[in-house]
Amino acid sequence: MAATDVLKPDHAHSRKHFIFTDEHEQLRESIHNFVVKELRPHAEEWEETTFPNWVFPRMGELGFLGLTYPEEYGGQGGDYYCALVLAEEMTHANCGGLGMGIAVHTDMATPPIHLFGTEQQKQDYLVPAIKGQKIACLGITEPDAGSDVAGIKTRARKDGDEYVINGSKIYITNGHRADFIVLVTKTDDSAGYDGFTLFIVDMDLPGVIREKKLQKMGMHASDTALLAFDDVRVPESAVLGQVGKGFYHIMWELQGERMIGAAGAVAAAQNVFDRTLQYAQERHAFGRPISKFQVTRFKFAEMATKIETARQMVYTTAWRFANGEYPVREISMAKLYASRIACEVADECIQIHGGAGYMKEYNVERVWRDLRLNRIGAGTDEVMLEVIGKSYGL
Ligand SMILES: Cc1cc2nc3c(=O)[nH]c(=O)nc-3n(C[C@H](O)[C@H](O)[C@H](O)COP(=O)(O)OP(=O)(O)OC[C@H]3O[C@@H](n4cnc5c(N)ncnc54)[C@H](O)[C@@H]3O)c2cc1C
Repeated sequence: MAATDVLKPDHAHSRKHFIFTDEHEQLRESIHNFVVKELRPHAEEWEETTFPNWVFPRMGELGFLGLTYPEEYGGQGGDYYCALVLAEEMTHANCGGLGMGIAVHTDMATPPIHLFGTEQQKQDYLVPAIKGQKIACLGITEPDAGSDVAGIKTRARKDGDEYVINGSKIYITNGHRADFIVLVTKTDDSAGYDGFTLFIVDMDLPGVIREKKLQKMGMHASDTALLAFDDVRVPESAVLGQVGKGFYHIMWELQGERMIGAAGAVAAAQNVFDRTLQYAQERHAFGRPISKFQVTRFKFAEMATKIETARQMVYTTAWRFANGEYPVREISMAKLYASRIACEVADECIQIHGGAGYMKEYNVERVWRDLRLNRIGAGTDEVMLEVIGKSYGL
C-alpha cells in the first residue's frame, strides 16, 4: 500500500451540511455576492445614519424578501433552509443592524400574516412586503413588560365594528420606517392567555405616534422606536388570526424568530473568527506570528469547537422544525447556546487583536457590541433557561 492511498483529512475542503442542497448553495452564492457588492461597502456609513429604505425594494426585486413564501404571493416558494441561508449571508454585510432590520421584516413580522392572515391581509400586506414596497415591524415589548409578554398593557377595545387601541411599545426594530406593525394587544383582561389578539395596524393611522429614536449600545444601523397608540381606530378586518388567540400566535412566531437569531449568531461568530484567524497569522510578536503561540492556537480550537457545536444544534433543530415538529425545547437551547458562544467568540477575537480589537477600524468591537443583543432580544438567556427547565416538568 502506497502512502498516497492512505485517507488523509483535507481540512481546507468545504463541506456542505446535509440539510442544504446544491440549490441552497447557489442561493447562498447569489445572496453573498449581492451583500458583498451592494451592502457591505455602506456598513460604516449606515452605522451613523441607519440603513436606507431602498434596501427593501432592492432585495424585493432580487426575490430575497420572500424566499420561503409561496409564488402566488410573489415569493420564491423555497423551503425553511432558505431563510437560514439569508440570515447567514446577511452577516457578511458586517452590519448587524441591517441584518436585524431585514430579519424582522422577513422572519418575524410577516410569517404570522402568511400563517394566520386572511386572503385580503395577504394581498394588502404580505405581497407588498415581499416586494419591499411596504416595510414591516413587530410590536410585542412594552415599557413595563418584555420577558413577561402576558403582562402587556396595550388594550384593544371593541367599539361597534371597530377596535380602539391604546398603549405603547418599546425597542421596536424598524419602528420609525415601517408602513405597518403586527401588534400584540390584550382584548380581554379576564381571559388569561386567551385574552390576547394580534392586529395589523397601518403606521400612518391617526393616533399612531412614533416617539423618539432610541440610542443603543450596538446594532446602530437599525432604527429602534418607542411607539405610542392613542385611540387608534382599526376595523375588525385588522385582526390577525383569531380573536383571543394572539398569545399562542405570537409564541409560535417567537420560535421562528429564535431560530433565525441563532443561525445569524453562529454565522456572525464564524465571520469574526475567520477574520481574526487571518489577523493572527499576519500579526507578529516575539519573532513569530501570534497564531504560533500555543495559547492562541488553543483559543481558536476552543472557538471553532463552540461554533461547530452551535451550528450543528441550529441545523439539526431547523431540520426538525422544517419537517413538521415543534421542537420548542431544542429551539430554546439553540438560541441560548448560539447567542452565548457568539458573544464569547467576539470577546476572544477582540483579545486576539489586542489594541486593534478595541479600535473601530478593525470592526471587531462592533461585532461584539452587535452580538450582545442576541442574549437579550427574542427572549433573554434566562427566559430560554426557564423554557428549557420547565420542559422537563420542573
Ligand atoms: C435593540 C433591540 C431591538 C429589539 N427589537 C424588538 C422588536 O422589534 N419588537 C419587540 O417586540 N421587541 C424588541 N426588543 C425587545 C426584546 O425582545 C426585549 O428587550 C427582551 O425580550 C427582554 O425584555 P425586557 O427588556 O423588558 O427585559 P425584562 O423582561 O425586564 O428582563 C430584565 C431581566 O430580568 C430577567 N428576567 C425576566 N423574567 C425572568 C424570569 N422569569 N426568570 C429569570 N429572569 C427573568 C431577564 O432575563 C433580564 O435579565 C428589542 C430589544 C432591543 C434591545
